[in-house]
Amino acid sequence: MAGKNPIAEKIHELTDRNLTFMHVCGTHEAAIARHGIRSLLPENLKIVMGPGCPVCITPQGEIDAALELAEKGCIIATYGDLLRVPGSNGSLESSGADVKVVQGVHKAVEIAKTTDKEVVFVSVGFETTAPTVAATLLTRPPENFSILSCHRLIPPAMDWLLAQGEASLNGFLLPGHVLVVTGLSEYRRFPVPQVVAGFEPDDILLGILMLVEQVREGAVRLDNAYPRAVFEEGNPKALEILHKVFEPCDVEWRGFPIIPKSGLKVREEFSAWDAQKKFGIEFKPTKKHAACICDKVLRGIASPTDCKLFGKVCTPRTPVGPCMVSHEGACKIWHHYHVKN
Ligand code: SF4
Repeated sequence: MAGKNPIAEKIHELTDRNLTFMHVCGTHEAAIARHGIRSLLPENLKIVMGPGCPVCITPQGEIDAALELAEKGCIIATYGDLLRVPGSNGSLESSGADVKVVQGVHKAVEIAKTTDKEVVFVSVGFETTAPTVAATLLTRPPENFSILSCHRLIPPAMDWLLAQGEASLNGFLLPGHVLVVTGLSEYRRFPVPQVVAGFEPDDILLGILMLVEQVREGAVRLDNAYPRAVFEEGNPKALEILHKVFEPCDVEWRGFPIIPKSGLKVREEFSAWDAQKKFGIEFKPTKKHAACICDKVLRGIASPTDCKLFGKVCTPRTPVGPCMVSHEGACKIWHHYHVKN
Protein backbone atom coordinates (compact mmCIF):
# COMPACT_ATOMS: atom_id res chain seq x y z
CA MET A 1 0.00 0.00 0.00
CA ALA A 2 1.43 3.34 -1.00
CA GLY A 3 -0.94 5.18 1.37
CA LYS A 4 -1.36 8.83 0.62
CA ASN A 5 2.28 9.68 0.15
CA PRO A 6 2.55 10.95 -3.43
CA ILE A 7 6.22 9.98 -3.77
CA ALA A 8 5.50 6.43 -2.61
CA GLU A 9 2.56 6.27 -5.06
CA LYS A 10 4.88 7.34 -7.88
CA ILE A 11 7.39 4.66 -6.88
CA HIS A 12 4.62 2.05 -7.09
CA GLU A 13 3.58 3.35 -10.51
CA LEU A 14 7.10 3.24 -11.94
CA THR A 15 8.47 0.01 -10.42
CA ASP A 16 7.99 -2.52 -13.21
CA ARG A 17 10.70 -5.08 -12.28
CA ASN A 18 12.53 -6.59 -9.31
CA LEU A 19 14.88 -3.99 -7.86
CA THR A 20 17.41 -4.02 -5.02
CA PHE A 21 18.93 -0.77 -3.82
CA MET A 22 21.57 -0.56 -1.11
CA HIS A 23 22.12 2.27 1.31
CA VAL A 24 25.40 2.50 3.20
CA CYS A 25 24.33 4.42 6.26
CA GLY A 26 23.08 3.50 9.74
CA THR A 27 21.18 6.80 9.93
CA HIS A 28 19.31 5.88 6.76
CA GLU A 29 18.48 2.44 8.16
CA ALA A 30 17.17 3.97 11.40
CA ALA A 31 15.01 6.47 9.49
CA ILE A 32 13.71 3.78 7.12
CA ALA A 33 12.75 1.54 10.05
CA ARG A 34 11.37 4.32 12.26
CA HIS A 35 9.08 5.65 9.54
CA GLY A 36 8.09 2.26 8.14
CA ILE A 37 9.36 3.23 4.71
CA ARG A 38 9.72 -0.37 3.54
CA SER A 39 5.97 -0.82 4.09
CA LEU A 40 5.32 2.01 1.62
CA LEU A 41 7.31 0.36 -1.15
CA PRO A 42 6.22 -2.23 -3.72
CA GLU A 43 7.02 -5.84 -2.82
CA ASN A 44 9.45 -6.15 -5.71
CA LEU A 45 11.56 -3.21 -4.52
CA LYS A 46 14.03 -4.19 -1.81
CA ILE A 47 16.16 -1.81 0.27
CA VAL A 48 19.19 -3.48 1.85
CA MET A 49 21.72 -2.07 4.24
CA GLY A 50 25.40 -2.25 3.42
CA PRO A 51 28.45 -1.51 5.57
CA GLY A 52 27.15 1.83 6.84
CA CYS A 53 27.46 1.42 10.60
CA PRO A 54 30.97 2.48 11.68
CA VAL A 55 30.84 0.49 14.91
CA CYS A 56 29.56 -2.68 13.19
CA ILE A 57 32.32 -2.73 10.60
CA THR A 58 35.07 -2.34 13.21
CA PRO A 59 36.60 -5.83 13.27
CA GLN A 60 37.47 -7.88 16.32
CA GLY A 61 41.16 -7.20 15.76
CA GLU A 62 40.65 -3.50 16.43
CA ILE A 63 38.60 -4.17 19.58
CA ASP A 64 41.38 -6.54 20.67
CA ALA A 65 43.91 -3.76 20.02
CA ALA A 66 41.93 -1.41 22.29
CA LEU A 67 41.87 -4.13 24.97
CA GLU A 68 45.63 -4.58 24.59
CA LEU A 69 46.11 -0.85 25.13
CA ALA A 70 43.97 -1.06 28.27
CA GLU A 71 46.15 -3.94 29.52
CA LYS A 72 49.17 -1.70 29.03
CA GLY A 73 47.60 0.74 31.50
CA CYS A 74 46.03 3.22 29.09
CA ILE A 75 42.71 4.90 29.77
CA ILE A 76 40.48 4.08 26.81
CA ALA A 77 38.12 6.85 25.71
CA THR A 78 35.50 6.11 23.09
CA TYR A 79 31.85 6.31 22.09
CA GLY A 80 29.34 4.35 24.20
CA ASP A 81 28.33 2.24 21.21
CA LEU A 82 31.75 0.60 21.07
CA LEU A 83 31.74 -0.63 24.68
CA ARG A 84 29.84 -3.86 24.13
CA VAL A 85 31.19 -4.76 20.69
CA PRO A 86 32.77 -8.19 21.09
CA GLY A 87 36.46 -8.73 20.50
CA SER A 88 38.07 -12.19 20.55
CA ASN A 89 37.84 -12.42 24.36
CA GLY A 90 35.13 -10.09 25.54
CA SER A 91 34.38 -6.43 25.08
CA LEU A 92 35.70 -3.19 26.51
CA GLU A 93 32.78 -3.26 28.95
CA SER A 94 33.30 -6.84 30.14
CA SER A 95 37.07 -6.55 30.39
CA GLY A 96 37.06 -4.33 33.46
CA ALA A 97 39.35 -1.92 31.59
CA ASP A 98 39.53 1.76 32.52
CA VAL A 99 37.12 3.03 29.86
CA LYS A 100 35.66 6.51 29.65
CA VAL A 101 32.64 7.08 27.44
CA VAL A 102 32.99 10.37 25.57
CA GLN A 103 30.87 12.18 23.02
CA GLY A 104 33.82 13.14 20.87
CA VAL A 105 37.57 13.44 20.57
CA HIS A 106 37.65 16.83 22.31
CA LYS A 107 36.33 15.22 25.53
CA ALA A 108 39.07 12.60 25.35
CA VAL A 109 41.67 15.37 25.10
CA GLU A 110 40.11 17.04 28.16
CA ILE A 111 40.55 13.79 30.11
CA ALA A 112 44.22 13.63 29.04
CA LYS A 113 44.75 17.13 30.42
CA THR A 114 43.60 16.01 33.88
CA THR A 115 45.80 12.91 34.27
CA ASP A 116 49.38 11.69 33.92
CA LYS A 117 48.16 8.38 32.51
CA GLU A 118 48.11 7.68 28.79
CA VAL A 119 44.70 8.32 27.22
CA VAL A 120 43.82 6.61 23.93
CA PHE A 121 40.77 7.67 21.94
CA VAL A 122 39.41 4.75 19.90
CA SER A 123 38.47 6.72 16.83
CA VAL A 124 35.82 5.12 14.62
CA GLY A 125 33.76 6.64 11.85
CA PHE A 126 33.66 7.51 8.20
CA GLU A 127 34.47 10.71 6.32
CA THR A 128 31.98 12.52 8.56
CA THR A 129 33.96 12.19 11.79
CA ALA A 130 37.57 11.90 10.59
CA PRO A 131 37.99 15.66 9.86
CA THR A 132 37.11 16.57 13.47
CA VAL A 133 39.68 14.11 14.78
CA ALA A 134 42.23 15.44 12.29
CA ALA A 135 41.53 19.02 13.40
CA THR A 136 42.18 17.95 17.00
CA LEU A 137 45.58 16.43 16.13
CA LEU A 138 46.47 19.66 14.30
CA THR A 139 46.12 21.49 17.63
CA ARG A 140 48.97 19.29 18.94
CA PRO A 141 47.15 17.83 21.99
CA PRO A 142 48.99 16.70 25.18
CA GLU A 143 51.78 14.11 24.87
CA ASN A 144 49.85 11.56 26.92
CA PHE A 145 47.03 11.59 24.34
CA SER A 146 46.82 9.44 21.21
CA ILE A 147 44.25 7.88 18.92
CA LEU A 148 43.69 4.34 17.72
CA SER A 149 42.57 5.10 14.18
CA CYS A 150 39.76 2.76 13.13
CA HIS A 151 38.38 5.09 10.47
CA ARG A 152 36.97 3.82 7.18
CA LEU A 153 36.20 5.33 3.78
CA ILE A 154 32.94 4.44 2.01
CA PRO A 155 33.88 4.38 -1.72
CA PRO A 156 36.44 1.52 -1.51
CA ALA A 157 33.80 -0.67 0.18
CA MET A 158 31.38 0.12 -2.65
CA ASP A 159 34.10 -0.90 -5.13
CA TRP A 160 34.46 -4.22 -3.29
CA LEU A 161 30.71 -4.87 -3.16
CA LEU A 162 30.28 -4.17 -6.87
CA ALA A 163 33.26 -6.35 -7.76
CA GLN A 164 31.69 -9.29 -5.87
CA GLY A 165 28.29 -8.79 -7.46
CA GLU A 166 26.77 -10.98 -4.74
CA ALA A 167 23.93 -8.61 -3.76
CA SER A 168 22.76 -8.00 -7.39
CA LEU A 169 22.45 -4.30 -6.74
CA ASN A 170 20.51 -1.98 -9.03
CA GLY A 171 21.84 1.14 -7.36
CA PHE A 172 23.06 2.93 -4.26
CA LEU A 173 21.26 5.39 -2.02
CA LEU A 174 24.19 7.49 -0.83
CA PRO A 175 24.51 9.00 2.66
CA GLY A 176 23.89 12.74 2.64
CA HIS A 177 26.08 13.54 5.63
CA VAL A 178 29.12 11.76 4.12
CA LEU A 179 28.76 13.55 0.79
CA VAL A 180 28.36 16.90 2.58
CA VAL A 181 32.06 16.41 3.37
CA THR A 182 33.34 14.55 0.30
CA GLY A 183 31.26 16.17 -2.44
CA LEU A 184 30.08 14.23 -5.46
CA SER A 185 33.09 13.74 -7.72
CA GLU A 186 34.53 10.63 -6.05
CA TYR A 187 31.28 8.75 -6.61
CA ARG A 188 30.91 9.49 -10.34
CA ARG A 189 33.14 6.55 -11.28
CA PHE A 190 30.66 3.89 -10.09
CA PRO A 191 28.90 2.14 -12.99
CA VAL A 192 25.47 1.94 -11.30
CA PRO A 193 22.64 4.40 -10.59
CA GLN A 194 23.30 6.46 -7.48
CA VAL A 195 21.29 9.10 -5.65
CA VAL A 196 22.47 11.02 -2.60
CA ALA A 197 19.65 11.46 -0.11
CA GLY A 198 18.91 13.23 3.15
CA PHE A 199 17.30 11.72 6.22
CA GLU A 200 13.70 12.91 6.38
CA PRO A 201 11.17 10.32 5.16
CA ASP A 202 10.42 12.28 1.99
CA ASP A 203 14.17 12.76 1.33
CA ILE A 204 14.60 8.99 1.39
CA LEU A 205 11.52 8.29 -0.70
CA LEU A 206 12.60 10.90 -3.24
CA GLY A 207 16.03 9.28 -3.43
CA ILE A 208 14.42 5.88 -4.05
CA LEU A 209 12.10 7.37 -6.69
CA MET A 210 15.08 8.94 -8.50
CA LEU A 211 16.85 5.56 -8.46
CA VAL A 212 13.80 3.86 -9.96
CA GLU A 213 13.65 6.55 -12.67
CA GLN A 214 17.31 6.00 -13.55
CA VAL A 215 16.77 2.25 -13.87
CA ARG A 216 13.78 2.78 -16.16
CA GLU A 217 15.80 5.19 -18.30
CA GLY A 218 18.69 2.74 -18.47
CA ALA A 219 20.81 5.56 -17.06
CA VAL A 220 23.90 5.35 -14.88
CA ARG A 221 24.53 8.64 -13.16
CA LEU A 222 24.79 10.32 -9.77
CA ASP A 223 21.75 12.42 -8.91
CA ASN A 224 21.44 14.67 -5.90
CA ALA A 225 18.18 14.48 -3.93
CA TYR A 226 19.73 16.49 -1.09
CA PRO A 227 20.78 19.71 -2.84
CA ARG A 228 20.10 21.84 0.22
CA ALA A 229 23.15 20.30 1.92
CA VAL A 230 25.31 18.44 -0.63
CA PHE A 231 27.37 20.31 -3.21
CA GLU A 232 29.72 19.22 -5.96
CA GLU A 233 32.91 20.19 -4.13
CA GLY A 234 31.84 19.02 -0.66
CA ASN A 235 33.63 20.74 2.21
CA PRO A 236 37.14 21.50 0.88
CA LYS A 237 38.42 22.75 4.24
CA ALA A 238 37.35 19.55 6.03
CA LEU A 239 38.91 17.43 3.27
CA GLU A 240 42.16 19.39 3.42
CA ILE A 241 42.41 18.85 7.18
CA LEU A 242 41.55 15.15 6.84
CA HIS A 243 44.24 14.54 4.20
CA LYS A 244 46.82 16.58 6.09
CA VAL A 245 46.62 14.26 9.10
CA PHE A 246 45.52 10.92 7.62
CA GLU A 247 46.49 8.84 4.62
CA PRO A 248 44.59 5.89 3.11
CA CYS A 249 45.66 2.38 4.15
CA ASP A 250 44.56 -1.20 3.48
CA VAL A 251 42.33 -2.52 6.28
CA GLU A 252 39.95 -5.33 7.11
CA TRP A 253 36.27 -4.50 7.68
CA ARG A 254 34.11 -6.78 9.83
CA GLY A 255 32.45 -9.11 7.36
CA PHE A 256 34.86 -8.15 4.59
CA PRO A 257 38.43 -9.04 3.76
CA ILE A 258 41.17 -6.41 3.63
CA ILE A 259 39.91 -3.67 1.30
CA PRO A 260 42.68 -1.64 -0.36
CA LYS A 261 42.90 2.03 0.63
CA SER A 262 39.71 1.83 2.69
CA GLY A 263 41.13 2.89 6.06
CA LEU A 264 42.83 6.00 7.38
CA LYS A 265 46.16 5.85 9.19
CA VAL A 266 47.85 8.73 10.95
CA ARG A 267 50.60 10.30 8.84
CA GLU A 268 54.18 10.02 10.07
CA GLU A 269 54.28 13.73 10.92
CA PHE A 270 51.63 13.14 13.59
CA SER A 271 52.91 9.76 14.79
CA ALA A 272 53.34 11.09 18.35
CA TRP A 273 49.54 10.79 18.60
CA ASP A 274 49.25 7.45 16.80
CA ALA A 275 48.56 4.81 19.48
CA GLN A 276 49.58 1.96 17.16
CA LYS A 277 53.07 3.40 16.71
CA LYS A 278 53.39 4.69 20.26
CA PHE A 279 52.60 1.32 21.85
CA GLY A 280 53.61 -1.09 19.05
CA ILE A 281 50.07 -2.37 18.46
CA GLU A 282 49.11 -4.42 15.41
CA PHE A 283 45.62 -5.22 14.18
CA LYS A 284 45.21 -9.00 13.98
CA PRO A 285 42.82 -10.82 11.62
CA THR A 286 39.26 -11.52 12.78
CA LYS A 287 37.61 -14.81 13.75
CA LYS A 288 33.86 -14.41 13.76
CA HIS A 289 31.23 -16.08 15.99
CA ALA A 290 30.07 -19.16 14.09
CA ALA A 291 26.33 -18.42 14.14
CA CYS A 292 26.39 -14.63 13.74
CA ILE A 293 25.65 -13.53 10.16
CA CYS A 294 26.64 -9.88 10.64
CA ASP A 295 29.06 -10.33 7.75
CA LYS A 296 26.18 -11.14 5.39
CA VAL A 297 23.97 -8.39 6.84
CA LEU A 298 26.77 -5.85 6.28
CA ARG A 299 27.16 -7.02 2.66
CA GLY A 300 23.43 -6.71 1.95
CA ILE A 301 22.94 -10.42 1.25
CA ALA A 302 20.98 -11.24 4.42
CA SER A 303 18.50 -9.46 6.67
CA PRO A 304 18.75 -9.42 10.47
CA THR A 305 15.67 -11.66 10.70
CA ASP A 306 17.47 -14.30 8.60
CA CYS A 307 19.76 -14.87 11.60
CA LYS A 308 18.71 -17.79 13.82
CA LEU A 309 19.91 -15.90 16.90
CA PHE A 310 17.94 -12.70 16.18
CA GLY A 311 15.69 -11.76 19.12
CA LYS A 312 16.36 -15.08 20.87
CA VAL A 313 19.97 -15.58 21.90
CA CYS A 314 20.97 -12.21 20.45
CA THR A 315 19.13 -9.16 21.79
CA PRO A 316 20.24 -5.60 22.64
CA ARG A 317 20.75 -6.84 26.25
CA THR A 318 22.69 -9.92 25.15
CA PRO A 319 24.33 -8.94 21.84
CA VAL A 320 26.28 -11.64 20.02
CA GLY A 321 27.45 -9.49 17.12
CA PRO A 322 28.13 -5.78 16.66
CA CYS A 323 25.01 -5.21 14.53
CA MET A 324 22.95 -5.76 17.72
CA VAL A 325 25.11 -3.37 19.75
CA SER A 326 25.27 -0.10 17.88
CA HIS A 327 22.26 2.18 17.53
CA GLU A 328 23.26 2.32 13.84
CA GLY A 329 23.42 -1.48 13.55
CA ALA A 330 20.76 -3.14 11.39
CA CYS A 331 19.97 -5.87 13.93
CA LYS A 332 19.45 -3.45 16.82
CA ILE A 333 17.36 -1.14 14.63
CA TRP A 334 15.18 -4.01 13.35
CA HIS A 335 14.78 -5.35 16.90
CA HIS A 336 13.82 -1.91 18.25
CA TYR A 337 11.29 -1.10 15.51
CA HIS A 338 9.99 -4.69 15.16
CA VAL A 339 10.90 -4.80 11.48
CA LYS A 340 9.98 -8.18 10.01
CA ASN A 341 11.47 -8.09 6.53
FE1 SF4 B 1 24.86 -11.20 14.56
FE2 SF4 B 1 22.98 -10.95 16.47
FE3 SF4 B 1 22.61 -9.81 14.13
FE4 SF4 B 1 22.52 -12.45 14.33
S1 SF4 B 1 21.08 -11.00 15.26
S2 SF4 B 1 23.55 -11.26 12.74
S3 SF4 B 1 24.07 -12.82 15.92
S4 SF4 B 1 24.22 -9.30 15.60
